[in-house]
Amino acid sequence: MINKRVDLTDVQITHLKSLVTGQVSTNETILDQHGRDESAIPPVRPSAVVMPQSTEEVSKVLAYCNAEKIPVVAFGAGSSLEGHVLPLFGGISLDLTGMNKVLEIRGDDLLVRVQPGVHRMALNERLASSGLFFSVDPGADATLGGMAATGAAGTTTVRYGSMRDNVLALTAVLADGTVIKTGRETRKLSAGYDLTRLLVGSEGTLGVITELTLRVFGIPEKMAAAIVRFNSLDDGVTAATAIVRSGISIARCEFLDAKCIKNVNAHDGLNLSEVPTLFFEFHGSPQGVAEDAASVKEIVEEFGGSEFEWTSDEGARRKLWQARHNAYWAGIAANPGKRAVSTDAAVPLSKLAEAVTVAEQILSKHPYPFSILGHVADANFHCFIVTDPAKPQELEDVRHITHEITMKMIGMGGTCTGEHGIGSGKIEALISETGAPAVQVMRSIKESLDPNNILNPGKVFK
Ligand SMILES: Cc1cc2nc3c(=O)[nH]c(=O)nc-3n(C[C@H](O)[C@H](O)[C@H](O)COP(=O)(O)OP(=O)(O)OC[C@H]3O[C@@H](n4cnc5c(N)ncnc54)[C@H](O)[C@@H]3O)c2cc1C
Repeated sequence: MINKRVDLTDVQITHLKSLVTGQVSTNETILDQHGRDESAIPPVRPSAVVMPQSTEEVSKVLAYCNAEKIPVVAFGAGSSLEGHVLPLFGGISLDLTGMNKVLEIRGDDLLVRVQPGVHRMALNERLASSGLFFSVDPGADATLGGMAATGAAGTTTVRYGSMRDNVLALTAVLADGTVIKTGRETRKLSAGYDLTRLLVGSEGTLGVITELTLRVFGIPEKMAAAIVRFNSLDDGVTAATAIVRSGISIARCEFLDAKCIKNVNAHDGLNLSEVPTLFFEFHGSPQGVAEDAASVKEIVEEFGGSEFEWTSDEGARRKLWQARHNAYWAGIAANPGKRAVSTDAAVPLSKLAEAVTVAEQILSKHPYPFSILGHVADANFHCFIVTDPAKPQELEDVRHITHEITMKMIGMGGTCTGEHGIGSGKIEALISETGAPAVQVMRSIKESLDPNNILNPGKVFK
């Protein structure tokens, strides 16, 4: 069992070099790049970075690390937000970005096969000429392997689902080097335990994903966007939940509070009214999107929504959604030198307005700048709280505040994380949410697949 930092010997590094055709690096800059994620959690360097080029090489590396009891932390784009990629016990960072081939595009089957290091934007650039797109869109340009490993979701989840819905099959390497294939290229499957969904969201603790078969969709004939303003946070969020209940087909529905809008205005050179705002997107036929937008307008007006604007102009739609996607970076840019802590609770739909109000009340009692935004159609929202990395006490304080918010959300029947995952940041919250017996089942699965605990130790459980 790994319980202290492991630094590799020269002999081990030389042996690893013989197992892969890609780089094995101990260069300090490269170690630093692999020792942090996008969270405010202080970095931890790996002892070496290993860059395999194939499933076979990953298998050889894991078999060797298992025999030598060297921790292995898979690394995609490093955009995760809960310390997921930090090698808490040293060992190697296994960088999968060299495995970045789109292996097959099968339009007739509406699926693609990719290696784990393909970035989601690169995949969509490749798919566009086939009239297809991959729908899951976390704000960062993450890798498909990392997105599967965190169970990522995004702005289009309300319509197209998250990684849990869109990964059909996987190739993965277990801790001892065994290669397994899970799932099939079918749209339905009822054969045995669902190992695909066990690996999706397992955060690199059960296996290393080396190939993914993903569902893709036809690019809609027409896409239109709309925005609408509200007097209060509560009105905006309540309107969003009413739209979801109405069954109107929305492709995206996102909420930004007044502070977020101020930040994106400054960051993206926009001039949006600085009030709570809902952003929508509609996909379908030209007539269908116009009808959906008109139905949404009617509902939001019942909740005091005003200045409803909609556009089917492609440039304007892209600009608006780019601003939404930049909200995180806009928040950082507004606070130079600072880092952010993001909550990620999701609650039952009927509790969303209360949940957002409770979170805002808690945050308002403290001195840290914050804003609130979210995938409100999925009743999942983020409190974005700014902290100074030069003052570690601040981070600890903010962590206490976010834990308090998270516990309130769990008390409302919600989850501590709708999409970011547990990492090292939400271990206690997982126990509170799921209960010790269920966490013990998870631990038994981990112990059975990775008895030496080499795969991303210190994540999901202590
Ligand atoms: C601005 C911003 C906005 C974001 N918005 C969203 C959002 O809307 N929705 C959302 O879900 N997330 C969001 N995130 C978080 C992040 O983008 C996702 O968690 C993403 O899925 C991480 O992918 P990655 O390639 O960066 O993985 P990494 O950060 O490199 O790794 C994440 C985890 O997956 C493991 N892993 C990586 N590759 C593999 C592999 N091949 N096999 C096994 N395990 C692996 C790692 O060990 C680690 O535990 C956002 C982040 C930022 C910075």
